[in-house]
Amino acid sequence: MSIAAEKNVFDVEKIRKDFPILQRKVNNYPLVYFDNAATSQTPQQVIDAIVDYYSNYNANIHRGVHTLSQEATDKYEAARKKIQKHFNAEKSHQIIFTSGATHGINLVASGFGAILKEGDEILVSALEHHSNIVPWQMICEKTGAKLKVIPMNEDGELVYTAFEELLSERTKIVFLNHVSNALGTVNPIKKVIDKAHSAGAAVLIDGAQAAPHIKADVQALDVDFYVVSAHKMCGPTGVGVLYGKEEWLKKLPPYQGGGEMIATVTFEKTTYADLPHKFEAGTPNICGGIAFGAALDYLNAIGFDAIAAYEQDLLEYATKKLLEIEGMRIYGVAKEKTSVVSFNIEGLHPYDIGTIVDKLGIAVRTGHHCAQPIMDFYKIPGTVRASFSFYNTRAEIDKFIEAVEKAKAMLS
Ligand code: PLP
Repeated sequence: MSIAAEKNVFDVEKIRKDFPILQRKVNNYPLVYFDNAATSQTPQQVIDAIVDYYSNYNANIHRGVHTLSQEATDKYEAARKKIQKHFNAEKSHQIIFTSGATHGINLVASGFGAILKEGDEILVSALEHHSNIVPWQMICEKTGAKLKVIPMNEDGELVYTAFEELLSERTKIVFLNHVSNALGTVNPIKKVIDKAHSAGAAVLIDGAQAAPHIKADVQALDVDFYVVSAHKMCGPTGVGVLYGKEEWLKKLPPYQGGGEMIATVTFEKTTYADLPHKFEAGTPNICGGIAFGAALDYLNAIGFDAIAAYEQDLLEYATKKLLEIEGMRIYGVAKEKTSVVSFNIEGLHPYDIGTIVDKLGIAVRTGHHCAQPIMDFYKIPGTVRASFSFYNTRAEIDKFIEAVEKAKAMLS
């Protein structure tokens, strides 16, 4: 049982003490960090794991007989096992370390470059981050396969019936996010996966935005590929994982060539290493992988149910307060959402609002959030996006509302 569930309380003040950065001031105001969907903050426990690595056992892995190399290898492989357990993958070699979600998607898209042919179709949702659009467009250019888009509606939800109509025996893979970064919409991925499988198509889920809030069970989902980034989950930047079904990981060709990913090399022929090393060319982000494991330990000790319940309260509170501001329009009002509010105020540019609230110590994101097709759908250049984490508070939301009102008064 998680600490929060045992105590039946969510002790946010205690949690906040784990995050040194929350003590700092920005422009002489206490930092209010509402840019969690871009990157989350790092608790001391994860910082300690990073310092421990560089202070005590920094060494290259997998190929050293010396003590430090073995220690680093053991810790790195232990992190892989933690990640396997967290996502309930059957085997640890189905967890491929990557530099993040973008890398994972490119790895799979590039692999499909060897599978797709002219006349094949691949389906993308209208709610994607650019990193789940562009790699597939590049593969379509190479193979002649056709990219088709599952539309969204005004509420920021996927139009499931349109997906059913687009799906056919020509569809080879469907890729969509579990949660939209721009709007917070939670997509009905289990339904999509089952339906796609019934047509013989594979499914890649971009879990970058879901993973901080929802513990995905890849076996229960029966998903073919699931990608995440550690830096959205209290871990460091530059590391993430790709989960893949074993049959797919065996079928896809290696993504990059180099050291670590080979079994034998001669100038005549190279044979590749077994999973997971086949997809892990070169020296990986060893410290990052280990720190990712520490981040999962941290999140699981709090408990994902407790995190989700607390963040939903923040979402509802912020939504209600924001809607009290005249001229407010919130984009993305899906029935199921994570703690993201994307909005504009009539007549004001999101960039101006973001700049003014920053002067008051509040970090939000403004712009298209790497999801230009969503902005085009709403015919807007961008939004202000406030994204909350379990270490944020209602009091911080109050400060934010006050700052937005101030910005509105200054700009109107
Ligand atoms: N997918 C989604 C939904 C995201 O929100 C992001 C980052 O914002 C990414 C993919 C890309 O993640 P990364 O830059 O860590 O590879």
